[in-house]
Amino acid sequence: MFTDPNPSCERCAATVGPYVNTADGCPRCRGESFAFDGALRLGTYEGPLREVILRLKHAHNEGLAEIVAAAWAERSLDKLHPLSIASVVPVPLHWWRRWQRGYNQSEALARTLAQSLGVPCQTHAVRRVRRTVSQANLSLPAGRENVRGASGARRGGTLGRKTVLLVDDVMTTGRTVHEVARELRNGGAGRVIVAMLARAEM
Ligand SMILES: [Zn+2]
Repeated sequence: MFTDPNPSCERCAATVGPYVNTADGCPRCRGESFAFDGALRLGTYEGPLREVILRLKHAHNEGLAEIVAAAWAERSLDKLHPLSIASVVPVPLHWWRRWQRGYNQSEALARTLAQSLGVPCQTHAVRRVRRTVSQANLSLPAGRENVRGASGARRGGTLGRKTVLLVDDVMTTGRTVHEVARELRNGGAGRVIVAMLARAEM
């Protein structure tokens, strides 16, 4: 059902031609600076995969998310294992859109992927880090407190300079995952690899 016949860019997961070396990106992403280090996809945002993703956006489809993620993991384990993933983090819902939805579909996907990889799923990693980033809006003493909290989070070592797999359902421009990856980096992640169900290509 989910076949991806085309090779994709190692950096942004866009479709590329056969035998193209994408270690430095592809024509689509070469001008972009991303806070993530690589990107994997299950397929492109079309056909049955698109249908499934649209269904995942509705509440009560958590079971479907688990089935899709299990199939995804099975297909991607040979790509994921060499990356030494230490933890899996879903893109928080508020970074996407505030759908009135009963659950975060990326979180359901991330949880099953983490299980397949045998690593922890860190649902709150980004929210925890997030408190440290909007310093411009804080008065000076509060800002200082904020920095202290940040280094405390790093010492906590949940991300510990290791490789984080950041999970999203669809990636279009990459700006959302870029922002989240930057926070993960600030929070101590060594490397961030984005895993998306589908790459939307405009
Ligand atoms: Zn690319």
